[in-house]
Amino acid sequence: MKKEVRVRFAPSPTGALHIGGVRTALYNYLFAKKNNGTFILRIEDTDQTRYVPGAEEYIKETFKWLGIEPDEGVGHGGPHAPYRQSERKDIYLKYAQQLIDAGRAYYAFDTPEELDAMRERLKQAKADNQVYDSLSRQTMRNSLTLDADEVKQVIDQKVPYVIRLKVDRNQEIGLVDMIRGQVTVSSDHIDDKVLMKSDGMPTYHLANVIDDHLMNISHVIRGEEWLPSAPLHVLLYQYFGWADSMPQFAHLPLLLKPDGNGKLSKRDGDKHGYPVFPLEWTDPTGGEKSMGFREQGYLPEAILNFLAFLGWNPGTEQELFTLHELVQHFSIERINKSGAKFDIEKGKWFNQQYLKNVPDTTLASGLMTILTRENISCSQEKAAAICGLMKERVTFPQEIWTTGQFFFFQPEAYDEKVIQKKWNEEAKTIIGDYAKALSAADTLTSDLALSILHDVLERHGVGAGKVMQALRVAITGLAGGPDLMPVIAVLGKEETIKRIEHALKSI
Ligand code: GLU
Repeated sequence: MKKEVRVRFAPSPTGALHIGGVRTALYNYLFAKKNNGTFILRIEDTDQTRYVPGAEEYIKETFKWLGIEPDEGVGHGGPHAPYRQSERKDIYLKYAQQLIDAGRAYYAFDTPEELDAMRERLKQAKADNQVYDSLSRQTMRNSLTLDADEVKQVIDQKVPYVIRLKVDRNQEIGLVDMIRGQVTVSSDHIDDKVLMKSDGMPTYHLANVIDDHLMNISHVIRGEEWLPSAPLHVLLYQYFGWADSMPQFAHLPLLLKPDGNGKLSKRDGDKHGYPVFPLEWTDPTGGEKSMGFREQGYLPEAILNFLAFLGWNPGTEQELFTLHELVQHFSIERINKSGAKFDIEKGKWFNQQYLKNVPDTTLASGLMTILTRENISCSQEKAAAICGLMKERVTFPQEIWTTGQFFFFQPEAYDEKVIQKKWNEEAKTIIGDYAKALSAADTLTSDLALSILHDVLERHGVGAGKVMQALRVAITGLAGGPDLMPVIAVLGKEETIKRIEHALKSI
């Protein structure tokens, strides 16, 4: 029987979720939905020293904003609750004990100084690895070198201890990664990893494997940085006797800097002025603020589409995919092995494509908020009309305001180049006549504004080319912009005439 698809996104709440993490979550979501499976959110917060308040909320808010909410997990409940690892301590202890009983793990009582001394010894002896492993463990204070009474005694005395995995020597550990194919590692390269720390908390490796097993995870889809840990995880599955139900692994390619040189980092974003976090984030300790895609004006649909293409492609020319379409087309087979360049320009392009389709009335509410802040009165209809004219010409909603100022203010300056080339006596006369003709109009629509212009041009026996640019500059101050006739209709008769008269007087 085919195993039910159950995948998890398992972040550690150590700060704002990096955009690469969002991509991992998205791929998990797409894979789950494609296969009628379950997408789970598990919070891996066993490393108390790295815990950052607010990070968990940040993750949940990101999912809500993007519309990729988990089916099960923290904040959603489910049959395997709790989904926050710090609330599952007893479970890990029980399973660690199971490994000890099976002779697969042991107690280690070494102090930090003793561990340092061991590393120093190994360094002097020119050992390849200065680690706690099948060889060095024999020289240390642990439940393999001490006899049973001594072990009991130190435990009773509450001497701090850790539990370590007893990795056998000279074993081949293999796994077939769904993206990378066969990966084989010798157990000689794996040290006796700490499974339980002296504070009674499990390490990432132990908790991660136990939870994936108990939560019936079918596929582990995660970033490439976890590939080196995968053989250790395979070993844990074997030692627990769970090898038969081990999940399949898929390690996603890295996100690279836009130029392809190295891993995308937070600093790249700061340096080049683009976000690497989905939402704005204020570091709770230093107060440092990092920008977010949401606050920069990126639309959730654009981010989903952009991220989906960072490491995956559908194998066709189609680039624009709704979330629903991504679900239909997604497959792990079409994920690339090589790193994906974080091309922010492509992200902007996606945003532009989606912005065009946002209803004018939706964009108008955003514009109205800005106008209220700026103390500019404007009707909802007019705001919607402005958004309709501007949305094809901008990348972000807020640019409708920044580049559409001419809708609200009479120009104070006029484009020099156009003035030099097109502002002449003939143009001025025609434009003046146009203003006069406009004053006779009733309700000024864009069609009417155009037909009045045609009448005036005809009377003067000239083509539109002679005056169009001069007229635009007189009204907006600018050399380019949306179609002029609809702009005139939005401005209205009085305002247009006023602006033309002002231009004729002041240029
Ligand atoms: N807690 C790990 C992280 O922060 C999870 C890695 C995994 O998915 O196994 O990314």
